Amino acid sequence: MIGCNCPVCTSDNPKNRRFRSSVAVEFNNRLVLLDTATDLRQQALRYELPRVDAVLFTHAHADHIHGIDELRAFNFRFLRQIPCYGNQDVIRRICKYFEYIFDEGERESIRPFLTMHAVDGSFSLFGQTVTPVPLWHGSLSVLGYRLGDFAYLTDVSRIPDASWELLGGLELVILDALRPRPHKTHFSIDQALQVVERIKPKRAVLTHLSHMIEHEKVNKDLPKPVELAYDGMVLDLTESIETERSES
Ligand SMILES: [Zn+2]
Ligand SMILES: [Zn+2]
Ligand SMILES: [Zn+2]
Repeated sequence: MIGCNCPVCTSDNPKNRRFRSSVAVEFNNRLVLLDTATDLRQQALRYELPRVDAVLFTHAHADHIHGIDELRAFNFRFLRQIPCYGNQDVIRRICKYFEYIFDEGERESIRPFLTMHAVDGSFSLFGQTVTPVPLWHGSLSVLGYRLGDFAYLTDVSRIPDASWELLGGLELVILDALRPRPHKTHFSIDQALQVVERIKPKRAVLTHLSHMIEHEKVNKDLPKPVELAYDGMVLDLTESIETERSES
């Protein structure tokens, strides 16, 4: 956190040095990004993100969309449009906040070349079914996403009744857990653990962690199969995605 001298913010442990929350999912030789975090440029450089073929947006808060301009680097490399998906609200806000991207006029400099798609149900992306999972982030309606047996549920403080059934049989869930204390718009660690208890994934990873969470201290006390995320974490789901492919 800017200007903070707490033990987490001054820690030498790289697991306590956190960029904004985001995930890159690779399947069928494609790479789909979940959100364009403010830190996308540094994330892409540090972790050598080779490409971005599509973006799934969860919601339009600054920390999840402000890296959108960095997508132009991938347009430039692969010379094709990047399709972006989200609910109506996200699409509307992105078009409004980043009006210059969608301005049809001639430009001297390169800007991102994106197509925006509002989704309100499952759709197919590069041969994989993507299911939006409606969630509450305080009073804001946001989306999590399920791809095969993987679900990404960031920025959530309540799961609506109808969404629970979309979360059965998961191999992996990545779930919001801001801090130990409750918060108006995010799950606390205990609330996240209650969700894990109910949906029983094979593996659960907590994300969107604040500086109130010291990685080693909190991680060692989490019950199996729950662990804390850290920047650069790689999770291999090859098996579950292959199973899904052979079933379909
Ligand atoms: Zn701090
Ligand atoms: Zn948010
Ligand atoms: Zn956020």
